[in-house]
Amino acid sequence: GATLGVLGGGQLGRMFVHAAQAMGYFTAVLDQDATSPAGLVSHHHIRTGYEDPQGLAELARLCAAVTTEFENVPAGALNQLATSLPVSPAGSAVAIAQDRAAEKAHFVKCGVPCAPYAVIATPEQLAAVNDALLPGILKTARMGYDGKGQVRVKTRAELAAAWEQLGRVACVLEKMLPLAHECSVIVARGRNGDIVNLPVQRNLHREGILAVTEVYAGNLPAAQAEQALAAAKSVADGLDYVGVLCVEFFVLQDGKLVVNEIAPRPHNSGHYSQNACDVSQFELQVRCMTGLPLTQPRQHSPSIMLNLLGDLWFRQGGDTPATPAWDKVLQLPGCHLHLYGKADAKRGRKMGHLNITAATPEVVRATALKAAEILGIAPF
Ligand code: ATP
Ligand code: MG
Ligand code: MG
Repeated sequence: GATLGVLGGGQLGRMFVHAAQAMGYFTAVLDQDATSPAGLVSHHHIRTGYEDPQGLAELARLCAAVTTEFENVPAGALNQLATSLPVSPAGSAVAIAQDRAAEKAHFVKCGVPCAPYAVIATPEQLAAVNDALLPGILKTARMGYDGKGQVRVKTRAELAAAWEQLGRVACVLEKMLPLAHECSVIVARGRNGDIVNLPVQRNLHREGILAVTEVYAGNLPAAQAEQALAAAKSVADGLDYVGVLCVEFFVLQDGKLVVNEIAPRPHNSGHYSQNACDVSQFELQVRCMTGLPLTQPRQHSPSIMLNLLGDLWFRQGGDTPATPAWDKVLQLPGCHLHLYGKADAKRGRKMGHLNITAATPEVVRATALKAAEILGIAPF
């Protein structure tokens, strides 16, 4: 069989490896960390950084195609690999997703509404900020995730202090919007422009981190879901994107839909597809990179995903982690446990997720609420 490569060894890479292996491929993971979740389960594990030309050359030698699971992999690494084998997504698309300023400019170009914003990379730009953007959220243009690299600011003085605190790096100030809820869409686009999607996901974030994803008929008003899907497709088409792309949205209290950001890879909010859809987001990733046909995935079960953060390991208090009561949760019908093989539980760290499926939205909600109660996750 052919070998498929992935840049990055986190949980997304691990689940990509599982999907590729199920379809008969060998895999190669490039990640410095000896105990990375994907490296642990892959046939090949190249333990170098993304900038190391020798590691990249080794990956290119082993593989028939390469993808990424880490959105901050240097675009240069993708471009180097692309000189000798198919790489998806392309470095050019990943470069846009890596930079909030470029990303927002792309939304504007595609005619997809986003939050009012200003780029702040210089003291002059800071001074020129319009008061209408306050209260707002100052976000570093690069490298933020799970709400990291973000400061909420109410006044100009707080804004100036926040920019200092973030190290005067290039930032984007976004107006704080009154959210009703959040949603996201996973699309997969092939080299020939074929595009398919997973159903629109409704997401609940807590402290900047995804906590719960709910996907079933009626999770969102139909008009909102249609709008989100159309916007996601135009964002992907506009990038001439190849691969799996997640587009995150805010739904405002007045019902308006606003795009938040994109992730050039499978996404935490698409994990339910592993158990609730006939094609998962990771199988879509394999199909995109190998040029296999893309068929429209079908969701066969209403589903809720609960993220399992390291906090759940510390419910007894103290500093010694204790494994949550999986046996109690797995007694509930339709619970599918996914753990990422991370040895050390830390607060705020994504350790795994629980996919819950049932025959109806009512039953899936009741089961998910029971599972949450057992695990100590706040109700939703
Ligand atoms: P991810 O891990 O999804 O990449 P991130 O660090 O890139 O997260 P964002 O998606 O920018 O962070 O923001 C995290 C969360 O903060 C959002 O999902 C939303 O709940 C809240 N948030 C961000 N921007 C705004 C805004 N302009 N108005 C209101 N809430 C916001
Ligand atoms: Mg992000
Ligand atoms: Mg986000």
